[in-house]
Amino acid sequence: MPNFYYLNEEPQPSGVHEIHADGCKFLPVRRVYLGYYANSEDATRNAKQFYEDVSVCEHCVTDVEFALPK
Ligand SMILES: [Zn+2]
Repeated sequence: MPNFYYLNEEPQPSGVHEIHADGCKFLPVRRVYLGYYANSEDATRNAKQFYEDVSVCEHCVTDVEFALPK
């Protein structure tokens, strides 16, 4: 969905950095502003410039194909 996307600077225990959409209740304090994107795929592409291992937050990003675990 179109939204402002952010990348968590703090990795999860698994080492993955999560991407959040604006308005998520789990939006981290330490975050990188990725930009305004039409979908999480474009936001993910940008996020990979910061960290190799990124995934979308399952609570706020609903684009199903990118919310699936690896
Ligand atoms: Zn989130």
